[in-house]
Amino acid sequence: MSYKAALADVPLRFVDPRNRSRTCSAYGHCAKENRKSQVAFCCVKCGMLINAGINAAITISRASVMEPLLLGR
Ligand SMILES: [Zn+2]
Repeated sequence: MSYKAALADVPLRFVDPRNRSRTCSAYGHCAKENRKSQVAFCCVKCGMLINAGINAAITISRASVMEPLLLGR
């Protein structure tokens, strides 16, 4: 999908679906250490503590802002 973004000349913050559950919804820091357990997400970068499901939902909703643009090309 990256090449489409290059063609569209748009800034891309692509989040791999497999990494969404471990990506900080505040700053986009991705690390498997962020995911403390099935339900707990604690960012090792900024220290944000949040429910893992809610964090993933926020991360996905931000990513989905870009995806319709890319898929439409
Ligand atoms: Zn963070």
